[in-house]
Amino acid sequence: MEHRFEYLTSEELKPFIAQKALVVMGIGTIEEHGAHLPTGTDWFITQRFTDDLSAYLDQNSSVPFLTLPAIWTGYSATLMQAWPGTIRMATRTVMDMMRQIIGSLCEMGFDKFLILNGHGHHTELLRVVAREIADDHGVFPAVTNFFTLGAKEYNAARTGPTGTSIHGGEDETSVMLHYGYKIDVSKYTTVDHVHYHTEFMAGDNFLGSTKLFWSTWNYNPSTTGLLGDPTPSTPELGRVLIEACVKNLARFVEEYWHHRD
Ligand SMILES: [Zn+2]
Repeated sequence: MEHRFEYLTSEELKPFIAQKALVVMGIGTIEEHGAHLPTGTDWFITQRFTDDLSAYLDQNSSVPFLTLPAIWTGYSATLMQAWPGTIRMATRTVMDMMRQIIGSLCEMGFDKFLILNGHGHHTELLRVVAREIADDHGVFPAVTNFFTLGAKEYNAARTGPTGTSIHGGEDETSVMLHYGYKIDVSKYTTVDHVHYHTEFMAGDNFLGSTKLFWSTWNYNPSTTGLLGDPTPSTPELGRVLIEACVKNLARFVEEYWHHRD
């Protein structure tokens, strides 16, 4: 069945609206990712993950759903401009854009939204948008940084220690290898391995605990545009992470879509 919203006609959307189909929408960005990864990394991963989740749900779930194309731009901190490749929008522009896209879908009659976030700087913005949509429409979107859904499986398979898996490091590089993107291994560098790990700050996207927000870009400044270390990356690790994220998120889809008051 075709689940891509933009491939359907207005008439074909009507039964999805009648069934209160879940709408899945990702947002990545275009931003520098060090010397070895393309600037589209967050966007490529978010779109490919959306496609993987769609294929899995199509085969394994009776939840009606649609997907929208992943958004390719967003907010990055100004300091990213130290390395060419980052296209920045204001935080409020990103939030207003998301609020208006989801708001349009609410006006059509959709009431369940799963927002897939592929870019760390969007975490707080998307949670605020979810609250705004609730205030505007009485509808409660779910927002996830989808890599976190596979943390347990990723940590069991990873070989890099704490501090490898952040921006452009072991996690994203492994996923890009899994998805078949050409990556110049000779450009790998370890110099931005994150070495700052405390009771409060994890310094890794999958290990340790972050009890409050303090940007890694400040407590462990990057010299190359990376945070983390890509050298332990393998396509197999990328496969493990993505498959775990898809399966675990599919379980949440059942929980979220069936929850109606
Ligand atoms: Zn990234």
